[in-house]
Amino acid sequence: MPRHLEPSHACACTSGQRYGDCCRPLLRGEREPADAVAMMRSRFSAFALDYPAYLWRTLHPSHPDRARPEAEILRNFRRASRTMEYRALSILDSTATADRARVLFLAQVGDRGRDLSFLERSDFLHDGTGWRYANGTVRPATDFAAPDATRLDTF
Ligand SMILES: [Zn+2]
Repeated sequence: MPRHLEPSHACACTSGQRYGDCCRPLLRGEREPADAVAMMRSRFSAFALDYPAYLWRTLHPSHPDRARPEAEILRNFRRASRTMEYRALSILDSTATADRARVLFLAQVGDRGRDLSFLERSDFLHDGTGWRYANGTVRPATDFAAPDATRLDTF
């Protein structure tokens, strides 16, 4: 369910910042996210706001989706944006070196009233230009007694 946001609106990534100060310049390609957490946030906003080209561009070349036809992947991203509700993102934990980062997050999402919230441990690699999404391990939030309290070492 894509939404349109004005720069003064609260950002779709639920950071609490204004969209114009948070994910908007990233989605518009005006600058790269400062770190992997900011990249993660911008990808959540890209799903919420229907920016499939951004989702494709920020996949690392080693991501399995990169081996499939771009048009098919763009279609899948667009379908996800149009059918799912992207309610909230919580970054639970992260680690990073100069060129590798790992981010654990809780995405509160739904599909026509059905709660499909999940936790994901995402790996990001810096390709020299910016942080790119390399792969992720997903588990349903219902697997966890306290999803919000989960950390990388307890995922
Ligand atoms: Zn944001």
